[in-house]
Amino acid sequence: MIRFEGVTKRYGGALAVDHLTLEAPTGKITVLVGPSGCGKTTTLRMVNRMITPTSGRILIDGRDNASLDVAELRRGIGYVIQAAGLFPHRTVLDNVTTVPRLLGTDKKAAQARALELIERVGLDPALASRYPAQLSGGQQQRVGVARALAADPPVMLMDEPFSAVDPVTREQLQNEFLRLQSELGKTILFVTHDIDEAIKLGDQVAVLRVGGVLAQLDPPAKLLADPVDDFVAEFVGRDRGYRALSFAAAPELPLTQEPTVRLGASAEQVRALGMPWVMCVGEADEPLGWVRAAAVESEVTRTLLHRGGTVASLSGSLRELLDAALSSPSGRGVVADDEGRFVGTIRASEVLPAIEARREAAAAEEATAR
Ligand code: ADP
Ligand code: MG
Repeated sequence: MIRFEGVTKRYGGALAVDHLTLEAPTGKITVLVGPSGCGKTTTLRMVNRMITPTSGRILIDGRDNASLDVAELRRGIGYVIQAAGLFPHRTVLDNVTTVPRLLGTDKKAAQARALELIERVGLDPALASRYPAQLSGGQQQRVGVARALAADPPVMLMDEPFSAVDPVTREQLQNEFLRLQSELGKTILFVTHDIDEAIKLGDQVAVLRVGGVLAQLDPPAKLLADPVDDFVAEFVGRDRGYRALSFAAAPELPLTQEPTVRLGASAEQVRALGMPWVMCVGEADEPLGWVRAAAVESEVTRTLLHRGGTVASLSGSLRELLDAALSSPSGRGVVADDEGRFVGTIRASEVLPAIEARREAAAAEEATAR
Protein backbone atom coordinates (compact mmCIF):
# COMPACT_ATOMS: atom_id res chain seq x y z
CA MET A 1 0.00 0.00 0.00
CA ILE A 2 1.15 3.53 -0.74
CA ARG A 3 0.01 6.07 1.81
CA PHE A 4 0.30 9.85 1.40
CA GLU A 5 0.09 11.61 4.75
CA GLY A 6 -0.51 15.36 4.52
CA VAL A 7 1.92 15.69 1.62
CA THR A 8 2.60 19.22 0.39
CA LYS A 9 4.90 20.41 -2.38
CA ARG A 10 5.59 24.10 -2.91
CA TYR A 11 7.53 25.74 -5.71
CA GLY A 12 8.40 29.13 -4.35
CA GLY A 13 5.10 30.47 -3.11
CA ALA A 14 2.97 28.26 -5.37
CA LEU A 15 1.37 25.06 -4.12
CA ALA A 16 1.74 22.18 -6.55
CA VAL A 17 0.34 19.65 -4.08
CA ASP A 18 -1.62 20.73 -1.00
CA HIS A 19 -1.90 18.48 2.08
CA LEU A 20 -2.61 15.35 0.12
CA THR A 21 -3.78 12.41 2.20
CA LEU A 22 -4.66 9.31 0.26
CA GLU A 23 -4.13 5.54 0.21
CA ALA A 24 -3.40 3.47 -2.86
CA PRO A 25 -4.27 -0.10 -1.83
CA THR A 26 -2.01 -3.05 -2.64
CA GLY A 27 -2.85 -4.85 -5.88
CA LYS A 28 -5.26 -2.15 -7.08
CA ILE A 29 -5.22 0.64 -9.64
CA THR A 30 -5.57 4.12 -8.16
CA VAL A 31 -6.01 6.79 -10.82
CA LEU A 32 -5.08 10.43 -10.23
CA VAL A 33 -7.08 12.59 -12.60
CA GLY A 34 -7.48 16.33 -12.96
CA PRO A 35 -6.81 19.27 -15.27
CA SER A 36 -3.34 20.15 -16.49
CA GLY A 37 -1.17 21.64 -13.73
CA CYS A 38 -3.13 20.19 -10.81
CA GLY A 39 -0.08 18.38 -9.44
CA LYS A 40 -0.47 14.84 -10.78
CA THR A 41 3.08 14.37 -12.03
CA THR A 42 4.50 16.02 -8.91
CA THR A 43 2.49 13.61 -6.74
CA LEU A 44 3.73 10.59 -8.69
CA ARG A 45 7.35 11.66 -8.64
CA MET A 46 7.37 12.14 -4.90
CA VAL A 47 6.72 8.39 -4.54
CA ASN A 48 10.02 7.39 -6.14
CA ARG A 49 11.72 10.51 -4.76
CA MET A 50 12.45 12.18 -8.06
CA ILE A 51 10.82 15.10 -6.20
CA THR A 52 11.10 15.74 -2.45
CA PRO A 53 7.95 16.85 -0.60
CA THR A 54 8.05 20.19 1.24
CA SER A 55 6.21 18.53 4.12
CA GLY A 56 4.29 15.36 4.94
CA ARG A 57 5.36 11.80 4.29
CA ILE A 58 4.80 8.91 1.93
CA LEU A 59 4.71 5.38 3.33
CA ILE A 60 5.18 2.32 1.18
CA ASP A 61 3.94 -0.76 3.01
CA GLY A 62 4.30 1.20 6.20
CA ARG A 63 7.88 2.38 5.58
CA ASP A 64 8.59 6.07 5.13
CA ASN A 65 10.07 6.36 1.64
CA ALA A 66 12.41 9.15 2.85
CA SER A 67 14.12 6.62 5.14
CA LEU A 68 14.83 4.11 2.37
CA ASP A 69 17.93 3.90 0.22
CA VAL A 70 16.93 5.58 -3.08
CA ALA A 71 18.32 2.82 -5.28
CA GLU A 72 16.50 0.17 -3.26
CA LEU A 73 13.29 2.22 -3.30
CA ARG A 74 13.38 2.62 -7.09
CA ARG A 75 14.10 -1.06 -7.63
CA GLY A 76 10.66 -1.80 -6.25
CA ILE A 77 8.94 0.77 -8.44
CA GLY A 78 8.34 0.59 -12.18
CA TYR A 79 7.92 3.95 -13.92
CA VAL A 80 6.16 4.47 -17.25
CA ILE A 81 5.82 7.88 -18.86
CA GLN A 82 4.08 9.43 -21.84
CA ALA A 83 5.77 8.67 -25.16
CA ALA A 84 7.44 5.70 -23.44
CA GLY A 85 10.78 7.44 -22.77
CA LEU A 86 12.74 4.60 -24.38
CA PHE A 87 16.49 4.74 -24.95
CA PRO A 88 16.62 5.66 -28.65
CA HIS A 89 19.99 4.02 -29.39
CA ARG A 90 19.15 0.67 -27.86
CA THR A 91 17.07 -2.12 -29.35
CA VAL A 92 13.72 -3.09 -27.88
CA LEU A 93 15.34 -6.11 -26.22
CA ASP A 94 18.13 -4.00 -24.72
CA ASN A 95 15.61 -1.42 -23.50
CA VAL A 96 13.68 -4.11 -21.62
CA THR A 97 16.76 -5.85 -20.19
CA THR A 98 18.60 -2.71 -19.03
CA VAL A 99 17.25 -2.61 -15.49
CA PRO A 100 17.47 -6.36 -14.73
CA ARG A 101 21.05 -6.31 -16.10
CA LEU A 102 21.91 -3.39 -13.80
CA LEU A 103 20.45 -5.42 -10.94
CA GLY A 104 22.82 -8.28 -11.76
CA THR A 105 20.58 -10.69 -13.64
CA ASP A 106 22.73 -12.62 -16.11
CA LYS A 107 22.31 -11.78 -19.77
CA LYS A 108 20.65 -15.01 -20.91
CA ALA A 109 18.09 -15.02 -18.12
CA ALA A 110 17.34 -11.29 -18.60
CA GLN A 111 16.81 -11.78 -22.33
CA ALA A 112 14.58 -14.80 -21.89
CA ARG A 113 12.42 -12.89 -19.42
CA ALA A 114 12.38 -9.81 -21.68
CA LEU A 115 11.11 -11.85 -24.63
CA GLU A 116 8.39 -13.30 -22.43
CA LEU A 117 7.36 -9.79 -21.33
CA ILE A 118 7.45 -8.46 -24.88
CA GLU A 119 4.91 -11.14 -25.82
CA ARG A 120 2.89 -10.51 -22.71
CA VAL A 121 2.31 -6.84 -23.50
CA GLY A 122 1.04 -7.88 -26.92
CA LEU A 123 4.11 -7.34 -29.11
CA ASP A 124 5.52 -9.64 -31.75
CA PRO A 125 8.88 -10.95 -30.42
CA ALA A 126 10.26 -10.36 -33.91
CA LEU A 127 10.30 -6.64 -32.99
CA ALA A 128 12.89 -7.27 -30.27
CA SER A 129 15.82 -6.35 -32.51
CA ARG A 130 14.29 -3.07 -33.72
CA TYR A 131 15.06 0.42 -32.45
CA PRO A 132 12.31 2.60 -30.88
CA ALA A 133 12.12 4.92 -33.92
CA GLN A 134 11.19 1.87 -36.01
CA LEU A 135 8.06 1.25 -33.95
CA SER A 136 4.62 2.89 -33.90
CA GLY A 137 3.62 5.02 -30.91
CA GLY A 138 1.44 2.23 -29.55
CA GLN A 139 4.24 -0.33 -29.90
CA GLN A 140 6.65 2.03 -28.10
CA GLN A 141 4.19 2.37 -25.21
CA ARG A 142 4.00 -1.42 -24.94
CA VAL A 143 7.80 -1.60 -24.78
CA GLY A 144 7.69 1.08 -22.06
CA VAL A 145 5.30 -1.10 -20.04
CA ALA A 146 7.41 -4.23 -20.62
CA ARG A 147 10.52 -2.35 -19.51
CA ALA A 148 8.82 -1.14 -16.32
CA LEU A 149 7.71 -4.70 -15.56
CA ALA A 150 11.10 -6.27 -16.26
CA ALA A 151 12.39 -6.03 -12.69
CA ASP A 152 8.99 -7.32 -11.47
CA PRO A 153 8.40 -4.37 -9.14
CA PRO A 154 5.40 -4.56 -6.78
CA VAL A 155 4.59 -0.89 -7.45
CA MET A 156 4.04 0.84 -10.80
CA LEU A 157 3.86 4.58 -11.39
CA MET A 158 2.32 5.44 -14.75
CA ASP A 159 2.22 9.05 -15.95
CA GLU A 160 -0.19 9.50 -18.87
CA PRO A 161 1.26 6.41 -20.53
CA PHE A 162 -1.44 6.18 -23.21
CA SER A 163 -1.99 9.88 -23.94
CA ALA A 164 0.22 10.23 -26.99
CA VAL A 165 -1.42 7.57 -29.16
CA ASP A 166 -4.52 7.59 -31.36
CA PRO A 167 -7.90 6.68 -29.78
CA VAL A 168 -8.09 3.19 -31.30
CA THR A 169 -4.59 2.25 -30.13
CA ARG A 170 -5.32 3.82 -26.75
CA GLU A 171 -8.34 1.61 -26.27
CA GLN A 172 -6.31 -1.49 -27.18
CA LEU A 173 -3.54 -0.50 -24.76
CA GLN A 174 -6.06 0.12 -21.99
CA ASN A 175 -7.71 -3.26 -22.52
CA GLU A 176 -4.38 -5.09 -22.55
CA PHE A 177 -3.26 -3.17 -19.50
CA LEU A 178 -6.38 -4.29 -17.60
CA ARG A 179 -5.87 -7.88 -18.72
CA LEU A 180 -2.22 -7.79 -17.63
CA GLN A 181 -3.11 -6.24 -14.29
CA SER A 182 -5.72 -8.94 -13.65
CA GLU A 183 -2.84 -11.45 -13.89
CA LEU A 184 -0.15 -9.44 -12.13
CA GLY A 185 -2.04 -7.55 -9.40
CA LYS A 186 0.49 -4.70 -9.05
CA THR A 187 -0.06 -1.70 -6.81
CA ILE A 188 -0.54 1.01 -9.42
CA LEU A 189 -0.71 4.79 -9.31
CA PHE A 190 -1.91 5.87 -12.74
CA VAL A 191 -2.05 9.50 -13.85
CA THR A 192 -4.29 10.82 -16.61
CA HIS A 193 -6.13 14.03 -17.51
CA ASP A 194 -8.80 11.98 -19.28
CA ILE A 195 -11.80 11.25 -17.05
CA ASP A 196 -13.02 8.44 -19.33
CA GLU A 197 -9.68 6.69 -19.00
CA ALA A 198 -9.78 7.20 -15.22
CA ILE A 199 -13.25 5.68 -15.00
CA LYS A 200 -12.35 2.77 -17.19
CA LEU A 201 -9.10 1.82 -15.48
CA GLY A 202 -9.41 2.87 -11.85
CA ASP A 203 -10.43 0.65 -8.97
CA GLN A 204 -10.59 4.02 -7.27
CA VAL A 205 -10.23 7.50 -8.75
CA ALA A 206 -8.77 10.57 -7.07
CA VAL A 207 -9.95 13.82 -8.67
CA LEU A 208 -7.52 16.69 -8.09
CA ARG A 209 -8.13 20.38 -8.67
CA VAL A 210 -5.54 22.99 -9.58
CA GLY A 211 -3.50 23.87 -6.51
CA GLY A 212 -3.05 20.17 -5.79
CA VAL A 213 -6.14 19.71 -3.64
CA LEU A 214 -7.87 16.35 -3.53
CA ALA A 215 -11.51 16.97 -4.46
CA GLN A 216 -12.85 13.41 -4.27
CA LEU A 217 -11.56 9.86 -3.88
CA ASP A 218 -14.04 7.13 -4.76
CA PRO A 219 -14.63 4.10 -6.95
CA PRO A 220 -15.71 5.14 -10.48
CA ALA A 221 -19.37 4.21 -10.09
CA LYS A 222 -19.65 6.30 -6.95
CA LEU A 223 -17.86 9.22 -8.62
CA LEU A 224 -20.36 9.20 -11.48
CA ALA A 225 -23.38 8.75 -9.24
CA ASP A 226 -22.40 11.13 -6.50
CA PRO A 227 -19.88 13.90 -7.32
CA VAL A 228 -19.14 15.83 -4.12
CA ASP A 229 -19.24 19.32 -5.63
CA ASP A 230 -19.69 21.37 -8.80
CA PHE A 231 -16.04 21.05 -9.79
CA VAL A 232 -16.13 17.25 -9.73
CA ALA A 233 -19.57 17.16 -11.36
CA GLU A 234 -18.33 19.34 -14.20
CA PHE A 235 -15.08 17.42 -14.55
CA VAL A 236 -16.86 14.07 -14.60
CA GLY A 237 -18.91 15.60 -17.37
CA ARG A 238 -22.26 15.34 -19.01
CA ASP A 239 -23.68 11.88 -19.85
CA ARG A 240 -22.55 10.74 -16.41
CA GLY A 241 -25.96 9.21 -15.73
CA TYR A 242 -25.67 7.22 -18.92
CA ARG A 243 -22.01 6.34 -18.35
CA ALA A 244 -22.76 5.08 -14.85
CA LEU A 245 -24.80 2.33 -16.50
CA SER A 246 -21.57 0.70 -17.62
CA PHE A 247 -21.09 -0.37 -14.00
CA ALA A 248 -24.53 -1.90 -13.83
CA ALA A 249 -24.40 -5.57 -14.77
CA ALA A 250 -27.42 -6.37 -16.89
CA PRO A 251 -29.98 -8.54 -15.20
CA GLU A 252 -31.35 -11.41 -17.24
CA LEU A 253 -33.78 -9.71 -19.51
CA PRO A 254 -36.09 -11.60 -21.83
CA LEU A 255 -34.75 -11.36 -25.37
CA THR A 256 -36.87 -11.42 -28.46
CA GLN A 257 -36.02 -14.34 -30.71
CA GLU A 258 -35.47 -13.20 -34.26
CA PRO A 259 -35.50 -15.06 -37.54
CA THR A 260 -32.17 -14.55 -39.32
CA VAL A 261 -30.89 -14.78 -42.86
CA ARG A 262 -27.43 -15.36 -44.30
CA LEU A 263 -25.61 -13.60 -47.07
CA GLY A 264 -27.01 -14.77 -50.38
CA ALA A 265 -30.56 -15.24 -49.07
CA SER A 266 -33.08 -14.42 -51.81
CA ALA A 267 -35.43 -11.45 -51.81
CA GLU A 268 -38.37 -13.90 -51.53
CA GLN A 269 -36.87 -15.52 -48.42
CA VAL A 270 -36.35 -12.14 -46.83
CA ARG A 271 -39.82 -10.86 -47.62
CA ALA A 272 -41.45 -14.10 -46.46
CA LEU A 273 -40.36 -13.17 -42.92
CA GLY A 274 -42.72 -10.19 -43.09
CA MET A 275 -40.45 -7.82 -41.19
CA PRO A 276 -39.15 -4.41 -42.32
CA TRP A 277 -35.64 -5.15 -40.94
CA VAL A 278 -34.02 -8.59 -40.90
CA MET A 279 -30.85 -9.68 -39.08
CA CYS A 280 -28.15 -11.19 -41.25
CA VAL A 281 -25.68 -13.54 -39.52
CA GLY A 282 -22.40 -15.09 -40.64
CA GLU A 283 -21.04 -18.64 -40.71
CA ALA A 284 -20.63 -18.81 -36.92
CA ASP A 285 -24.02 -17.14 -36.31
CA GLU A 286 -22.24 -13.86 -35.55
CA PRO A 287 -24.37 -10.77 -36.25
CA LEU A 288 -23.24 -9.09 -39.49
CA GLY A 289 -25.82 -6.33 -39.74
CA TRP A 290 -29.44 -5.41 -40.35
CA VAL A 291 -30.91 -5.54 -43.83
CA ARG A 292 -33.90 -3.46 -44.89
CA ALA A 293 -36.21 -5.96 -46.50
CA ALA A 294 -37.50 -3.47 -49.08
CA ALA A 295 -33.93 -2.78 -50.24
CA VAL A 296 -33.19 -6.39 -51.25
CA GLU A 297 -33.61 -6.64 -55.01
CA SER A 298 -32.31 -10.13 -55.75
CA GLU A 299 -30.36 -11.36 -52.74
CA VAL A 300 -28.73 -10.23 -49.46
CA THR A 301 -25.28 -8.82 -50.16
CA ARG A 302 -22.68 -7.21 -47.92
CA THR A 303 -23.34 -3.77 -49.30
CA LEU A 304 -26.93 -3.98 -48.01
CA LEU A 305 -25.81 -4.49 -44.39
CA HIS A 306 -26.29 -1.61 -41.94
CA ARG A 307 -23.34 -1.67 -39.60
CA GLY A 308 -24.14 1.29 -37.37
CA GLY A 309 -25.57 -0.73 -34.51
CA THR A 310 -23.45 -1.82 -31.56
CA VAL A 311 -23.63 -5.37 -30.24
CA ALA A 312 -24.31 -5.99 -26.55
CA SER A 313 -22.97 -9.09 -24.89
CA LEU A 314 -25.24 -11.29 -22.76
CA SER A 315 -22.88 -10.76 -19.82
CA GLY A 316 -22.51 -7.03 -20.52
CA SER A 317 -23.76 -3.94 -18.74
CA LEU A 318 -27.05 -2.05 -18.93
CA ARG A 319 -25.19 0.62 -20.87
CA GLU A 320 -24.25 -1.90 -23.55
CA LEU A 321 -27.83 -3.09 -23.87
CA LEU A 322 -29.26 0.41 -24.04
CA ASP A 323 -26.64 1.54 -26.52
CA ALA A 324 -27.29 -1.49 -28.74
CA ALA A 325 -30.99 -0.65 -28.76
CA LEU A 326 -30.48 3.07 -29.40
CA SER A 327 -27.94 2.53 -32.18
CA SER A 328 -29.89 -0.11 -34.05
CA PRO A 329 -31.61 0.98 -37.28
CA SER A 330 -34.41 -1.47 -36.51
CA GLY A 331 -34.84 -0.19 -32.95
CA ARG A 332 -34.01 -3.71 -31.79
CA GLY A 333 -30.67 -3.97 -29.98
CA VAL A 334 -28.50 -6.89 -31.02
CA VAL A 335 -27.35 -9.23 -28.24
CA ALA A 336 -24.64 -11.88 -28.65
CA ASP A 337 -23.38 -14.57 -26.28
CA ASP A 338 -19.79 -14.78 -25.04
CA GLU A 339 -18.80 -16.66 -28.19
CA GLY A 340 -20.18 -13.80 -30.29
CA ARG A 341 -23.23 -15.71 -31.56
CA PHE A 342 -26.43 -13.78 -32.15
CA VAL A 343 -28.95 -14.74 -29.45
CA GLY A 344 -31.77 -12.22 -29.85
CA THR A 345 -32.73 -8.58 -29.53
CA ILE A 346 -33.94 -6.13 -26.94
CA ARG A 347 -35.69 -2.75 -27.21
CA ALA A 348 -34.85 0.40 -25.28
CA SER A 349 -38.33 0.25 -23.73
CA GLU A 350 -37.40 -3.17 -22.32
CA VAL A 351 -34.06 -2.00 -20.88
CA LEU A 352 -35.49 1.07 -19.14
CA PRO A 353 -37.50 -0.84 -16.50
CA ALA A 354 -34.27 -2.61 -15.47
CA ILE A 355 -32.61 0.79 -15.06
CA GLU A 356 -35.53 2.03 -12.95
CA ALA A 357 -35.45 -1.15 -10.87
CA ARG A 358 -31.75 -0.65 -10.25
CA ARG A 359 -32.33 2.90 -9.04
CA GLU A 360 -35.03 1.70 -6.66
CA ALA A 361 -32.79 -1.10 -5.36
CA ALA A 362 -29.97 1.40 -4.75
CA ALA A 363 -32.35 3.76 -2.92
CA ALA A 364 -33.64 0.89 -0.77
CA GLU A 365 -30.07 -0.17 0.03
CA GLU A 366 -29.19 3.36 1.06
CA ALA A 367 -32.28 3.55 3.28
CA THR A 368 -31.33 0.33 5.14
CA ALA A 369 -27.72 1.46 5.45
CA ARG A 370 -28.84 4.51 7.45
P1 ADP B 1 0.21 17.97 -13.83
O1 ADP B 1 1.07 16.77 -13.98
O2 ADP B 1 -1.07 17.70 -13.10
O3 ADP B 1 -0.08 18.66 -15.13
P2 ADP B 1 2.48 19.05 -12.40
O4 ADP B 1 2.62 18.18 -11.22
O5 ADP B 1 3.42 18.82 -13.52
O6 ADP B 1 0.97 19.04 -12.92
O7 ADP B 1 2.61 20.58 -11.95
C1 ADP B 1 1.87 21.12 -10.88
C2 ADP B 1 2.17 22.60 -10.72
O8 ADP B 1 3.52 22.77 -10.29
C3 ADP B 1 2.06 23.39 -12.00
O9 ADP B 1 1.53 24.65 -11.71
C4 ADP B 1 3.49 23.49 -12.50
O10 ADP B 1 3.68 24.65 -13.24
C5 ADP B 1 4.25 23.57 -11.19
N1 ADP B 1 5.61 22.99 -11.32
C6 ADP B 1 5.91 21.71 -11.65
N2 ADP B 1 7.25 21.51 -11.63
C7 ADP B 1 7.82 22.70 -11.28
C8 ADP B 1 9.17 23.16 -11.08
N3 ADP B 1 10.20 22.31 -11.23
N4 ADP B 1 9.35 24.43 -10.72
C9 ADP B 1 8.32 25.28 -10.54
N5 ADP B 1 7.04 24.92 -10.70
C10 ADP B 1 6.77 23.66 -11.07
MG1 MG C 1 1.82 15.82 -15.69
